Amino acid sequence: MHEFVAKDHKVLADVAEWMVGRLSDQPVVASRGPGEVHVELPELTEDGVGTEAAWESLRDMVFPTAFPTDHPRYLAFVGGAPTPAAVLADAALSAASIYGGSELEAGAAVAAERAAIGWLCGFLGYPEGAHGTFVSGGSMANLSALVTGRHGRRTASGSAPGVVVVGASGHASIRSAAAIMGCDVVVAGSPDQPLRAADLVPVLDALDPADVVAVVASAGATNTGAVDALAEIAQLCADRGIWLHVDAAYGGAAMLAPAYRGLFAGIDQADSVTIDPHKWLFTPYDCAAVLYRDPALARAAHRQHAHYLDAVNDDGADNPADYAVHLTRRARGLPLWASLVANGTNAYVDAIERCLATAAYAAKQIDASAMLELAAEPPLSVVLFRRIGWDAEDYARWSRRARTSGLGLVTPTVHAGQTVLRLCFVNPRTTEADVDMLLESLEDATV
Ligand SMILES: *Cc1c(COP(=O)(O)O)cnc(C)c1O
Repeated sequence: MHEFVAKDHKVLADVAEWMVGRLSDQPVVASRGPGEVHVELPELTEDGVGTEAAWESLRDMVFPTAFPTDHPRYLAFVGGAPTPAAVLADAALSAASIYGGSELEAGAAVAAERAAIGWLCGFLGYPEGAHGTFVSGGSMANLSALVTGRHGRRTASGSAPGVVVVGASGHASIRSAAAIMGCDVVVAGSPDQPLRAADLVPVLDALDPADVVAVVASAGATNTGAVDALAEIAQLCADRGIWLHVDAAYGGAAMLAPAYRGLFAGIDQADSVTIDPHKWLFTPYDCAAVLYRDPALARAAHRQHAHYLDAVNDDGADNPADYAVHLTRRARGLPLWASLVANGTNAYVDAIERCLATAAYAAKQIDASAMLELAAEPPLSVVLFRRIGWDAEDYARWSRRARTSGLGLVTPTVHAGQTVLRLCFVNPRTTEADVDMLLESLEDATV
């Protein structure tokens, strides 16, 4: 019988060496983008090609075709630039084969994840006793929070609450979560403005509060970086007894920068919060956190029951499986914890401030350019701007050329009905020189 044992230490050493190279050098750029990848991947066969050949396929065929998110000019979407300490912990975690769902099995891994959750709750301003867990992404965090907000509630007619109210700039995953839950979505406000309590009042007036699963506000809208008026929204929700979920998947990290904290006033009043360490807290995919003011409600909503789980479902246990839509789970908060231990929390403050400063530099250069024009002042680290005279096709052509030449990954979006370019700064290794390279390419481009 074939033994699944890595007997060949050489290949393990090769992988380690490749990782060290990847983490110490500037990330390698892809020269081909999705849709232009023609690699001859090995067939899946009955006998297999061996661990070394499989590794070589990954290293030489698969990895080089991707545009790595930690490249300093990966500025499309919301990327992610993990610290070496986090990456090493993540790689070792796979080898450690830890089941991260329960204290009984995971031991101190649960305590380490709890410490990382505690740090997140702390900088959000959550009270003692707040808690949560790490899930695969902001989408799963948002779903888990909304399921908790609905748990055990009934309308006067005996049905479960059926409406999720979300600001117009809310992330697409809120709609997905509502669809999974069989809920309707009611949208408040306008997509290009932060949501205000005044936008919600007429919407909530028209609804039975018992039928509202939650109001979802954004703290850092993905498209614009806008932060909704959280304090007044929290007050309105408290007055009406409505669950408030704040989606801070991307933007929450900016609370580490003292100059930006005020923008988030009121987030500590939310019943639940999503924040993704795999976006702007330098942790590898996948790592998102769902946090609750009252974790007992999440436990009631999410703990799974079966005879074979009686051994772990001890009421005194702190089981990460109990706080979200999952059972088996990777202890994916460990890389964040290891990185915080290694680098210290001040390094996080510095790194976030660097990203914000680079975004501000980009905005200033765009403002000063005759060919470029800001579409809006950037609230956080997302910068939206226009190339004067370009239409959607011009942007698409330039973006494709920038990607395939390895210059950078920058993609257009739509803001206030117009196609614009969007730069999202979440990598502290992105420099002013990187910004200059991209902006000069835009100024010079003939499309
Ligand atoms: C990215 C994002 C999400 C979704 O998170 P995933 O980790 O991609 O599932 C949700 N909300 C906001 C505001 C986001 O920026």
